Amino acid sequence: MSWSILLVDDEAEILSALSRDLHAEGYRILSAQSAQAALEILEREPVAVVLSDQRMPEMSGMDLHIAIRQRYPDIVRMVLSGHTDLDVVMAALNDGAVYKYLTKPWERETLRASLQDAVQQYALQQERKRLVEEIEMANATLEQLNHELLNLVVSKDEALAYASSYDAVTGLPNRMLFVDRVQQSLAHARRDERCVAVISLNLDGFGAINDTYGQALGDALLRAVAERLGARLRSGDTLARTSGNGFSIMLADLTQPDDTEIIVSDLLAQIEQPFVLNGDDFFVAATIGISTAPMDGDDAQTLTRKADSALHYAKTEARGAYRFYAEEVNREVRLRLSLEGALRRAVERGEFELFYQPQCDLESGFIVGVEALIRWRRPEQGLISPLDFIPALEHTGLIVPVGEWVLRTACAQAHTWRKAGFYDLRMAVNLSVLQFRQTDLVGMVERILRDTGVDPFLHALELELTESLLMRDVERNIATLHRLVEMGIKLSVDDFGTGYSSLSYLRRFPIHALKIDRSFVQDMVENADDAAIVGAVIALGHSLRLNVIAEGVETEKQRTQLRILGCDEMQGFLISRPLPPAELLPVLRARASAECIKNRE
Ligand code: C2E
Ligand code: CA
Ligand code: CA
Repeated sequence: MSWSILLVDDEAEILSALSRDLHAEGYRILSAQSAQAALEILEREPVAVVLSDQRMPEMSGMDLHIAIRQRYPDIVRMVLSGHTDLDVVMAALNDGAVYKYLTKPWERETLRASLQDAVQQYALQQERKRLVEEIEMANATLEQLNHELLNLVVSKDEALAYASSYDAVTGLPNRMLFVDRVQQSLAHARRDERCVAVISLNLDGFGAINDTYGQALGDALLRAVAERLGARLRSGDTLARTSGNGFSIMLADLTQPDDTEIIVSDLLAQIEQPFVLNGDDFFVAATIGISTAPMDGDDAQTLTRKADSALHYAKTEARGAYRFYAEEVNREVRLRLSLEGALRRAVERGEFELFYQPQCDLESGFIVGVEALIRWRRPEQGLISPLDFIPALEHTGLIVPVGEWVLRTACAQAHTWRKAGFYDLRMAVNLSVLQFRQTDLVGMVERILRDTGVDPFLHALELELTESLLMRDVERNIATLHRLVEMGIKLSVDDFGTGYSSLSYLRRFPIHALKIDRSFVQDMVENADDAAIVGAVIALGHSLRLNVIAEGVETEKQRTQLRILGCDEMQGFLISRPLPPAELLPVLRARASAECIKNRE
């Protein structure tokens, strides 16, 4: 780039001598014979450096520089003057109006070097300005992204809520709206001390009719059933279509639960009357499950779940029957108690194992860490997924000793791998909310580290927390998290996006990584909204200086898209399923990075 230099002197010979001396330097040279002429040039031309004489008629060099400083603060200003003006020039230098001062007569080399320095000064300044602008732009973009993300989430929710509130065939509310209505009625019922009944109704024989006579007739039958049921309900009740052959009914405002029985018998009798469609008679029957608030629960989800499970139970009995939840409850409790008993024995007998799933750097493909995932090898039943027993472990409090065993085993494994030469292999362990509430989590962790000889600063130990864990009991949790971080442990947020935390809220916690939940990754290739959410989470995660890991990566397409979006790491079946240590070893050998494996000293 060729920079412009403006020379100002009232003597034409000096101007041409200066131009001659600077000729070979590659600058674009402009000259003016008075301060006034110089200011006119500056109005038209971008200039990097002004080198001006001090003594000139009309306006002195110093006054010229003061004027330039005011109008064009970026221009580097220099004076070329006779010795006599030293005092004036020194004052201007001190005041910052002038960058440098050269004396007449000048030496060619000094002049060249000084101008080079001045131009460099100008270039640096411009570069700094550009960077500041770039940073401001990046900040604005991030803010915009954040905004768009919010809008996306909101508009997606709204669109979904609209399209998915009603059933297209019958025009009735669907399950989502039904649950909503139940929730509302529950609030009223609590206030007025009334009961609410939730009914799950299954049409028996519908499937056969639908298959034999076709969907159009099936739809007509559903509409006829809906009409007949609706006619028997009161205005405050809600009828909804909640599955292919299922309806849900809410009876609001019951004075006593027994009223339900009368209404339900009536509904069953209604359904048993033949339906006349296209001139033919069609017979169906219904089976019903019922739950009642406040006895069976006080939230819509629980009540519908219990009505469903009562329905399930009723179906095992006879068609056209109905059952209240209470009758089913015993069975469920028995099942849970037997699972809990089995888990107690499993703890005593050591039936748990840890599997490990690798986490890869998206750029290099190297394995940089593993996540420890628990398995239960239940005698006669084989491997059981944690999804089926973690809730029971939490319910019984057994998660505390089992969680401790998990951490101890994972740390011992980390130590073994390190001794085998896998350095810098991060070990991630899941923490349950209940472990967090246990009184001495920090002490427990310290003990395990001491016993297994693991130093988190060397071995990179990471604990995975859930959003709900972070959001509960915030002040106390922050203190605990800080103590863990001081020990060198890293913290990550698991299943990010499924909870309620906002990124700005996360800023308060000393976390270092986000794991984007599998559900977003799963649909990102087909669903532009999910892709946008993943992209925004990555950008915002990075703006908080967090490492971003994508979970559940199963396809090459997902990997490519994540790389394009700048995601840091991935975990998923595409790389490897969770494996026992012996089976993982060859995978580690093949894909660990050079820094990760070092020869044993
Ligand atoms: P998580 O922490 O989200 O663990 C990831 C789960 O996703 C694992 O299921 C893993 O097998 C599965 N997964 C990984 N890659 C893929 C993929 O590409 N596709 C699909 N469809 N799934 C993938 P897993 O092992 O059944 O664990 C389920 C959950 O149980 C875990 O979810 C975690 O919340 C909990 N859990 C597992 N081990 C422990 C533990 O030691 N302590 C506690 N508190 N919870 C644990
Ligand atoms: Ca996890
Ligand atoms: Ca997860």
